[in-house]
Amino acid sequence: MKKFDYIILGFGQGGKVFAKEEAQNGKKIAVVEKNALYGGTCINVGCIPSKVIALDSQHKLDFKDSIKRKNEVVAALKNKNYKNLDIEENITIFDNKAEFKSNNEINLLDDKGKLVDTIVGDKIIINTGASPIIPNADGLKQSKYVYDSTGIMNLDSLPKHLVIIGGGYISLEFASTFANFGAKVTVIEKADSLMLREDKEIVSHILEDLKKKNINFLTAREVESVEDDENSAYVRTNKETLETDAILVAIGRKPNTDLALENTDVELGERGEIKTNEFLETTAENVYALGDVKGGLQFTYVSKNDRFILRDAIYGKKQFSLKDRKSVPYTVFIDPPLSRVGLTAKEAKEKGFDILEKSLLVSAIPRHKIDDDHRGLFKIVVNKENNTLIGASLYGRKSEEIINTLKLIIDYKIPIEDIKTNMFTHPTMTESLNDLFNIS
Ligand SMILES: Cc1cc2nc3c(=O)[nH]c(=O)nc-3n(C[C@H](O)[C@H](O)[C@H](O)COP(=O)(O)OP(=O)(O)OC[C@H]3O[C@@H](n4cnc5c(N)ncnc54)[C@H](O)[C@@H]3O)c2cc1C
Repeated sequence: MKKFDYIILGFGQGGKVFAKEEAQNGKKIAVVEKNALYGGTCINVGCIPSKVIALDSQHKLDFKDSIKRKNEVVAALKNKNYKNLDIEENITIFDNKAEFKSNNEINLLDDKGKLVDTIVGDKIIINTGASPIIPNADGLKQSKYVYDSTGIMNLDSLPKHLVIIGGGYISLEFASTFANFGAKVTVIEKADSLMLREDKEIVSHILEDLKKKNINFLTAREVESVEDDENSAYVRTNKETLETDAILVAIGRKPNTDLALENTDVELGERGEIKTNEFLETTAENVYALGDVKGGLQFTYVSKNDRFILRDAIYGKKQFSLKDRKSVPYTVFIDPPLSRVGLTAKEAKEKGFDILEKSLLVSAIPRHKIDDDHRGLFKIVVNKENNTLIGASLYGRKSEEIINTLKLIIDYKIPIEDIKTNMFTHPTMTESLNDLFNIS
């Protein structure tokens, strides 16, 4: 049996970087990938392709041309990712499905599920990501008009009417993109309202802008059934029937744990995630998990950051753990984007903070004239007690960049006064921080 120091299950975000770094440290590593998704979800079917088409839709590129460009970008990155590991003498890439035979043995299966080999690892790292959840509505799985986020980015032509089941962040990104390309979009959401975790005033700006793009939001709806005829599908909810030529299912993603875990001591958590402690150690000795599969926030940078915890745990240092993780920002790449870090005012009050709030319309920032885009609202939440930032919600152009600066301001408790008087380049969206932080 071939032996390795580490076997990494899945060519995911954290695992691939960890593999490269550790191979250069002299470790023998196996990376097992079942779908030829070299570079994982993000590069092949997630962040990168969805942002290519999002940007193209804003530039009013033709849908077909955008899908072609997206395919070229993905192919180039996939190839680069493969080579980046393959070039290392210490790394062996296996194109197989991985399943546990025991806590330290991995069965390699071919695409028909046939066992082709078994490999042994001193340490096993589970980095298998997550996959879309498909609901159980009658006829949904059988409909030829139904797509997940991967399928919808491979369409040959723009649908006339896209119905999206689920009103979460991936759903809203696709709604914004497809509407920008010119499709009519209907979003069906189970809850009474959308973006429940976000600041209400910001949400009302977002929904107003999205509605102007020909996106219709139907809340408090359950999808009951889907029926096809030759040219259309009919989505029946508890309140109406919608005719559509494409249905995107985007109700969330579940951890990929189809790994024959019954042959191990690895346990699952309440939401089907691989259970780990704060050092990413699973309940089986020498088996670790990182990225989406371990539950929590599903972002590329979370998985990549997990590898620092993993390395510390493996080398016995344990100086960095999930508990030491500072604020985690995120961006919803609608047009314009919403970016968020820390608490909203409502959350801060619920936690007992005495706060100050400040908001600034994007239309008050000089840069908006150059961009010819007045949409958006920036808001910050300050802890009155020590005059430090505890939250920010930025809806507007370039927020996906600025939010990373705000994360640093929160994490390193930079006084509000310092940002108010700091020098920023002009004309930029970031210089708006002078006004936004002019709060006391
Ligand atoms: C449409 C979409 C848009 C997104 N946009 C963003 C964004 O803008 N920013 C952001 O940060 N995140 C975004 N994400 C989320 C991001 O892609 C994930 O959080 C990230 O890829 C998770 O990385 P990971 O390391 O957990 O594993 P992944 O990158 O998911 O990789 C896991 C790999 O394991 C493989 N695998 C699974 N099971 C097995 C098995 N049994 N044997 C062998 N291999 C296996 C899979 O094929 C996959 O290649 C988006 C996701 C989607 C779907």
